[in-house]
Amino acid sequence: MDTNAYLTEFMAAQTKKDPAQKVFHQAVREVVTTLKPVLEQNPVYIQEKILERVVEPERIIIFRVPWQDDKGGVHVNRGFRVQFNSALGPYKGGIRFHETVTQDSLKFLGFEQTFKNSLTTLPLGGGKGGSDFDTRGKSASEVMRFCHSFINELYHHIGYHTDIPAGDLGCGAREIGYMFGQYKKLTNDFTGAFTGKKPNWGGSLLRPEATGYGVAYFAQNMLATRGDSLKGKTAIVSGCGNVGIYAIEKLTQLGAKVVGFMDYDGSIYDEHGVDEERLTFLKDLVFVRRGSLREYDKKFKGAHFRSGKKTWDIPCDVACPTACENELHEKDAKELLRNGCKCVCEGSNMPCTPEAVDAFQHAGILYSPGKASNAGGVAVSGLEMTQNSMRVYWTREEVDQYLRRIMNSIHQSCLSAAEEYGLKGNYMAGANIAGFKKVADAMLDQGLV
Ligand code: GLU
Repeated sequence: MDTNAYLTEFMAAQTKKDPAQKVFHQAVREVVTTLKPVLEQNPVYIQEKILERVVEPERIIIFRVPWQDDKGGVHVNRGFRVQFNSALGPYKGGIRFHETVTQDSLKFLGFEQTFKNSLTTLPLGGGKGGSDFDTRGKSASEVMRFCHSFINELYHHIGYHTDIPAGDLGCGAREIGYMFGQYKKLTNDFTGAFTGKKPNWGGSLLRPEATGYGVAYFAQNMLATRGDSLKGKTAIVSGCGNVGIYAIEKLTQLGAKVVGFMDYDGSIYDEHGVDEERLTFLKDLVFVRRGSLREYDKKFKGAHFRSGKKTWDIPCDVACPTACENELHEKDAKELLRNGCKCVCEGSNMPCTPEAVDAFQHAGILYSPGKASNAGGVAVSGLEMTQNSMRVYWTREEVDQYLRRIMNSIHQSCLSAAEEYGLKGNYMAGANIAGFKKVADAMLDQGLV
C-alpha cells in the first residue's frame, strides 16, 4: 500500500475509534502527515505498527475527586493521568487544572509531551494529567483541599521512577506544594516525585522562567538562521501566565520591544514597550494579586486595554502565542502576515490551527511548533530531577547554561531532521521527525510491551 493511502486509513481508524476526540486527532494528524518521508525510508515502522502503538496511551487513570468548599458544600471533579509513553524514561508532564480538561485534551497534551520530551535530549517519557477543576475564584484553603483529594488517589500511580508530574495551566508552585505535601504524607518519602517545586524544598532555580526564556532563545536561534536577531524587533506575546510573562522578560533582555500581550479579559497595546518598571508591575499583578490587565492600562500612560480582543492585529516582527491550543486562527495568521510578521514561535501547545500553520509555511516565514520551542520548561524539570537525585542545588547561571544548550540542541535537531528528509527550514516537520524517531526506535528495541 502506498504511504498516503496508509496514512489516510490510519487516521480514519483513529477517528472511528474515538470520534469525539477532536483535538487529539488534530495533534495526531499534524504529526503523522509530516512523518511520510520517514515511513517511506523506514518501512519497519509500518511493519511493526509503530504509529498504531505510539498513539495509544500506555495507561489512562480516571478518578473521582471529592472536596469541600469553605461553606461545607460538597463538590466532585474528575481527575485524570494519561501515562502516554515510557519508552525513553518515566512518564513526565504537567497537571492542568481548568474547566476545559477532558480525556481528549489530556490525550492531545500527553501525545505532544512524548515528542517534546524526546527532543529535550533527557531521559523522559511522556504524560499529562489534570482535572476539570478551576482554581480561579477559589480560596487557598479550597485549592488545598482539592489538591489533597486529587493526590489521595493519584499517589498510587506516580513516583520518582514511575511518573513525575509538574505544573501546567491553573497549576503553579502553590498547587504543586499542596500536592507534594500530601504525596509525602501518604508515602512517607521525600523524593523528587514532582517538579516545579519551590527552591527552598527541592525545586530548581529558573524553573518558573524556563519555558518563557526557552521560547525567546528559540526565536533568537531561528532568526539567526537568516542572519537576523531579536535586537530592535517588535514582539507580541499572547497569554499572561508563567510562559507569557517570562517570554516577555527574555525577549526584552535580548533587545526586542514587546508592544502587545493579553490575558483572559482582553489585550494591551503599549507602544512604549515593556520595560523593567512595567514588567515588575505585571509580575505583581499576575503572580501575586492575580488581577486583570485592565489595571495596566490605568497605570501606564499610552497603554490601551482592548476588552475581549486578542493581540494578533498588533503589527509586529515576532509573535509568540503562549496561551492555549487553537488560539491563533487562519484569519489571525493572515493579519500577522499582512502586518509584516517574520517569525512565529509557539510558547503553548498547538496554539496555531492547522490552517494558520499552513499560512505561515506558505508565506515562508519562520514558524516553530510548541513541542520544540516551549520545551525549555520540561527540560528544566528534567534538570530539577537530576539535582534531586544528586542532592545538590545548581546556581541560576548553571541552570541557564544548560537551558540554552538544550534549546540550541533542539533547534539544531529540528533543522537537521528537516534537511535530512528534504524539508529544509520546516521546523514543524523537523520537530516531529526528530522527536518521533527517538521514541519509535526505543519502542522497536524494547519489543511488544
Ligand atoms: N506543562 C509543561 C509542558 O507542557 C511542563 C511539564 C513538566 O515540566 O513536566 O511542557
